[in-house]
Amino acid sequence: MKQGKLLYAGKAKSVYRTDEKDHLIVEFRDDITAFDGGKKDTLKKKGRYNAEVSAFFFSYLGEHGVKTHFVRMLDENRMVVENLSMIPLEVIVRNIAAGSIVRNYPFKEKTPLRPPVIVIDYKDDARHDPMLNDDLILALKICTPAELKKIKNTALKVNDLLKDLLARQGITLVDFKLEFGRGKKGIWVGDEISMDSMRLWDATTGESLDKDVYRFDKGDVMETYDRVLQRIVKTSSAAGKKRTTAARKGSGD
Ligand code: 5GP
Repeated sequence: MKQGKLLYAGKAKSVYRTDEKDHLIVEFRDDITAFDGGKKDTLKKKGRYNAEVSAFFFSYLGEHGVKTHFVRMLDENRMVVENLSMIPLEVIVRNIAAGSIVRNYPFKEKTPLRPPVIVIDYKDDARHDPMLNDDLILALKICTPAELKKIKNTALKVNDLLKDLLARQGITLVDFKLEFGRGKKGIWVGDEISMDSMRLWDATTGESLDKDVYRFDKGDVMETYDRVLQRIVKTSSAAGKKRTTAARKGSGD
C-alpha cells in the first residue's frame, strides 16, 4: 500500500490517503497536548504506545461484535483504517466522576456513576468542544435519531467490554472518549482508543495511568504509558493465548 496525500493533521495524529480509495493511513505522531493545545510536547515513542494500545482495543472490540475502522498496522506508528466519514461528536462514557464533570457539576471526584453517564461534545476546537444534548444534535442535523441511538448503544457496549477487560488487569476504567464515522456498512468506531483518550486508575493504588499524568505533571508519562501497554496488551494477549490453548486442548484440536 502506498501512502498518499495528507488529508488532515490533528494535534497528535495525521491522516493520509492511500492508493486504495476505501482505506486511509492514520499516523500516530509523538506529539502530546493538553488543555486545548495550551500544553504541548513531543515525546519519543509516544505515537507507537498509542498506536499499539488502539490496535489492541480495536481488535478486541472487533472480536466482540463492535465494528471499528481498524484494518491492520503498517508499522509501529501507522495504522491502515477504513475510510469513514467522521461525525463531529466526542462521545464520552463516564463510570466514575472525574475531570470536567467534577469541575462543571456538583459531583464529588471518585463518585461511581451507575448507570454510566454519556456526555456528547461537539468536536470543534474553535468553540472548545461545547457539550451537546440530543435536541441540539438533531437540530444541528449532525445525525439522525436512529444513528444517535446506535452511537449511544455502541458506546455503552464498548464500555462494558473495555471495563471488564481492564478490570482483569487491575485497572479501573474511569471514563473514555469515542468518535464515530459513517462507512458503507453503517456507523463504526473510528479515531483512537488509547491512554490519551481514557482515564485509567490503578484499581489498588488509585494511581493515574493515562494522560492525566502529563496534564497534571504527576510523573513520567512515557514510563506510565509503557507500563500500561505491558499490563493491557502483553498480559491480556498472553491470557488470551492461554485461554485459546486451553480451549483447543479441551476440544481435542
Ligand atoms: P474530560 O471531559 O473530563 O476532560 O474528559 C473525559 C474523558 O474523555 C477523558 O478520558 C479524556 O481523556 C477524554 N476526552 C475528552 N475530550 C477529549 C479530546 O478532545 N481528545 C481526547 N483525546 N480525549 C478527550
